[in-house]
Amino acid sequence: MEMVKGACRKRCGVHWVAFVLVIIGAINWGLVGAFDWNLVNTLFGGIPTVEMIIYILVGISGIVMIFDGMCKGCGCVCEMPAKPMEPKM
Ligand SMILES: [Zn+2]
Repeated sequence: MEMVKGACRKRCGVHWVAFVLVIIGAINWGLVGAFDWNLVNTLFGGIPTVEMIIYILVGISGIVMIFDGMCKGCGCVCEMPAKPMEPKM
């Protein structure tokens, strides 16, 4: 399970979850705008509390992602000159 995908940073668990939630939230908003179809509501609308929690989590995740640059656990290497990863000596 290697993640090569040109990622200049690896994410810690928290930011990984936040990242996924932000993506879900973004796609959901896109669906709402384009098709007036709320995926989260479709999936979890039957349990309003769960639906609400997902919205809140997505919102929190957005805030969390703002600060991923200063997260020690994320091991960001973006500050370094952008060039292909070289094998360690
Ligand atoms: Zn992190």
